[in-house]
Amino acid sequence: MQKKIIGHQNIITQLQNAVTSERVAGAYLFSGEQGIGKETVALYFANLILCENTTDKVSPCGECRACRKIKNGNHPDLRIIRPDGAQIKIDQMRELQQQIVYQPLEGERKIFIIANTEKMNDSAANSLLKTLEEPPAASTIILLTENLKTMLPTIRSRCQILTFYPMPTDELSKALMDSLSIDTEAASAAAILSRGVIGKAITLIEKGITESGTVPAIMMETDLLAAFRLAEEFENEQESLDDLITWYRDLMLLQQDAPKEYITHTDAIEQLQTLVPRYSDNRLERAIKNIFQTKMLIQKTNVPKMLALEVMCLKLIQGR
Ligand SMILES: [Zn+2]
Repeated sequence: MQKKIIGHQNIITQLQNAVTSERVAGAYLFSGEQGIGKETVALYFANLILCENTTDKVSPCGECRACRKIKNGNHPDLRIIRPDGAQIKIDQMRELQQQIVYQPLEGERKIFIIANTEKMNDSAANSLLKTLEEPPAASTIILLTENLKTMLPTIRSRCQILTFYPMPTDELSKALMDSLSIDTEAASAAAILSRGVIGKAITLIEKGITESGTVPAIMMETDLLAAFRLAEEFENEQESLDDLITWYRDLMLLQQDAPKEYITHTDAIEQLQTLVPRYSDNRLERAIKNIFQTKMLIQKTNVPKMLALEVMCLKLIQGR
């Protein structure tokens, strides 16, 4: 028996039903933010399809030749394609196009998982589209994406789309306690800070971030020149903008004397209290809006990330 997957039960049931009823589709698109479990579920699905021994069609046996090969990453009918550098390139999609036409070697299907499909350049996307237009019968392509909106509508329309949502934090917190045997406080802090995204929660636990909170430097900074250094720090950290919003939100709550249970960074409350007099509610509102807008700019436009972050930091320090 395999390890149980945490969360996403509706999606898992749907995939299990596809296998039981022998109605596995030719193309799937798993959409959801980084760390939410798309790849874990895709691998489970591939494993369930390829397992030679599953009796219930619900859990791969974990012991047969296919299961062992998948575990070791060398099953000939399962390939995982990842960006080559910053992009998924046309050569990678051409290779897929060539391989997919051959019959599976050991299993009933050839399965291709493409991670970070949003990083596919235009020519690669067009090449993939050709494959999706005429998919060989014994094949399944599973596309994983953090940004469904950037995908070609023609690609989207050829896939069965499954959307991964964050877990309710109390549910995630319980699951973390069970599977990692950590205490209630650490589990619930990680669940809240990760906003229900399991991969992020596990990273936070591994980094020990649940233990002590430190107010982000930008909130205390008054020197405009620091904006450029701080922008660089944000550039290196993927999640930090979401995280930053939670800090400003806490400050807003403290300013309004909200009950402590609503505060995310409870372990930094004293430090946050000292900042309250420096921030008017207008300034906090502007700050949160500013961070949101910067996030959108980076995700949805071609504005250089560093420039967007510098402008954001300047505004946050100036209180504009
Ligand atoms: Zn097996």
